[in-house]
Amino acid sequence: MDTEDHKALREAVAALGKRHGRTADTTQLWADAGTLGYLGVNLPEAYGGGGGGVSELSIVLEELGAAGCPLLMLVVSPAICGTVIARFGTDAQKQHWLPALADGTRLMAFGITEPDAGSNSHRITTTAHRDGDNWILNGRKVFISGVDIADATLIVGRTEDARTGRLKPCLFIVPRDTPGFTRQPIDMELNAAEKQFELTLDDVRLPADALVGDEDAGLLQLFAGLNPERIMTAAFAIGMGRYALAKAVEYARDRQVWNTPIGAHQAIAHPLAQAHIDLELARLMMQKAARLYDAGDDMGAGEAANMAKYAAGEACVKAVDQAVHTLGGNGLTREFGLASLITAARVARIAPVSREMILNYVSHQTLGLPKSY
Ligand SMILES: Cc1cc2nc3c(=O)[nH]c(=O)nc-3n(C[C@H](O)[C@H](O)[C@H](O)COP(=O)(O)OP(=O)(O)OC[C@H]3O[C@@H](n4cnc5c(N)ncnc54)[C@H](O)[C@@H]3O)c2cc1C
Repeated sequence: MDTEDHKALREAVAALGKRHGRTADTTQLWADAGTLGYLGVNLPEAYGGGGGGVSELSIVLEELGAAGCPLLMLVVSPAICGTVIARFGTDAQKQHWLPALADGTRLMAFGITEPDAGSNSHRITTTAHRDGDNWILNGRKVFISGVDIADATLIVGRTEDARTGRLKPCLFIVPRDTPGFTRQPIDMELNAAEKQFELTLDDVRLPADALVGDEDAGLLQLFAGLNPERIMTAAFAIGMGRYALAKAVEYARDRQVWNTPIGAHQAIAHPLAQAHIDLELARLMMQKAARLYDAGDDMGAGEAANMAKYAAGEACVKAVDQAVHTLGGNGLTREFGLASLITAARVARIAPVSREMILNYVSHQTLGLPKSY
């Protein structure tokens, strides 16, 4: 449940979202939200952040989404990259990145997905090896959001364990214009300001301090960023679902084709009521996950963040579908702007971890059922 501070933050961000609206210029909105301190609410005060947690950052994303102007890069820049650097970065990395991520003057993308690994991130092959004081990275990434607008991308690679020879995950900050680091936009059927890219890392040479955190604790550090990512994707989905639902309710109150508004027909009203309940329930799980994470319970947060992402993704897809249907033909016009959300809502079902992989997680980790793969 919201504290008084959370309610105040929610109202202030909602007001900013309302001023910008669905047709927002994302760059301007990002700058305004940064100036007001909303982009770094989760980052440490010592480095220019708000000193809160993902509980607060998820409120920012949910409210901007509910106003029709979600900032997808909030999932990545302050939530994943900011968290990982704040928890595991060197003091120099913190000084260099955190104040700028917090006020929005710098942005960082995050790249883990690979064409031949997909959901099975244990299979990633982007490899880093040492060359004197430098690191050399080689590999490919796919579907990486916002690389063109990000000053750098936090790349998940692997280094060879000197003792066992096995590959272990490691995180590297790769500045956008590093030689050998190239990007190709993917032609997505998505109406969003943020683009997705295929990346090639071809003998990318990085200084020693490009490595974030401990070379031997890569997996742990990675998970520290992935839980906020799931919680923030839930916030993205809940915001979008709320936006679509509000449009549908407004329409159903006014539109009359018999002798009462269409919203009086239970066939229209009940699915909207169900969509509202599903979004509220998803938000409760998201708040639980955020509270556990902010309290330092990474394990407990992992299960709750997965469940929240699942519930929010499903609730969002259903709310958008029902909203489009409520508007009849207008649901598919550009003027009412809901049809494009049909594709956008699916993102929350697929990324950053698909619905099936969450069901797998709950089957195995929570219920103790055997694995099929
Ligand atoms: C808009 C968008 C933005 C993105 N942004 C980023 C980003 O910024 N950074 C980043 O690193 N990645 C990003 N991604 C990638 C995203 O995280 C992946 O698409 C996602 O993890 C799924 O991987 P995949 O697409 O390779 O699907 P696959 O892994 O090929 O899965 C395809 C289908 O098979 C199912 N499946 C796979 N394995 C199993 C199994 N064991 N049991 C049951 N079903 C299974 C999946 O659930 C899915 O339905 C983005 C994706 C999108 C669509």
